[in-house]
Amino acid sequence: MFDNLSDKLDKAMHVLKGHGSITEVNVADTLKEIRRALVDADVNFKIAKEFTKKAKDKAIGQGVLTSLKPGQLLTKIVRDELAELMGGEVTGVNLSGNPSVILMSGLQGSGKTTFSGKLANFLKTKKSKKPLLVACDIYRPAAIDQLHVVGESIGVEVYSNRDEKDPVKISQAAIAHAKQNGFNVVIIDTAGRLAVDEQMMNEIAQVHAAVQPQETLFVVDSMTGQDAVNTAKAFNDRLNFDGVVLTKLDGDTRGGAALSIKSVVDKPIKFIGTGEKMEAIDVFYPSRMADRILG
Ligand code: GDP
Repeated sequence: MFDNLSDKLDKAMHVLKGHGSITEVNVADTLKEIRRALVDADVNFKIAKEFTKKAKDKAIGQGVLTSLKPGQLLTKIVRDELAELMGGEVTGVNLSGNPSVILMSGLQGSGKTTFSGKLANFLKTKKSKKPLLVACDIYRPAAIDQLHVVGESIGVEVYSNRDEKDPVKISQAAIAHAKQNGFNVVIIDTAGRLAVDEQMMNEIAQVHAAVQPQETLFVVDSMTGQDAVNTAKAFNDRLNFDGVVLTKLDGDTRGGAALSIKSVVDKPIKFIGTGEKMEAIDVFYPSRMADRILG
């Protein structure tokens, strides 16, 4: 992931590396190359432009031109800006409820069901929680089956009711079941569609209003680049979600969604999915990712 961007940033910095003294023109050229590299990585032009402007202001403020090692200093500035662009501070999921309700939102195919399983497994094995998975896709029986398969593979109970066609009632009954049976986290996997539409939004907004989740996560396929960012905006406008889950980062060679989404919705990326297996989940650390991009 991010291979092209890493290469291009490395090349852009090359001129400054090893130089004891540089000119304003050198720095401006390098920043222009960085902007180009970001746009090539499918970062929105405006965000890329703002990024390089901030980096330039910092470079001047921190005396890159008079620094003994301008290349190193500019690399640090770009690294910090990348981390900031992707979210700055790390924030976990809110598990303060009893049970804590986590609502998953996103389009069909984004990786919602897979991620619901991954998160349940993560909370069970790493946080000693007792999660309950809830199948709330009332349109696709196959989606309910899929969640049951996932639940079985990780030893987590799945609540479903194939006769009930109201996702609000299913969610409420699942929460009551959790309370009665000692589950302390309830993860609700909702129905997604192939594109943003009013009915899907109304449905998830109703579930959201009824269950008042401690945490609403928006799941999106990072390989869809700027579409991922636009979808995030549509869901956030409606749900005011708490965090983003970027899936399929293992197949995302460009990284545009990871780099742009925070600026657009002002919500942190909380987790990433890096494969189809239940263990392929990572907490997202912006600064570690920035280190990785700069190699
Ligand atoms: P949903 O419709 O949003 O519930 O999406 P699914 O969970 O069914 O996932 C759609 C497809 O993406 C499935 O084939 C998953 O195995 C795959 N998938 C989900 N997350 C990841 C990931 O992080 N990496 C990769 N490579 N594939 C993933």
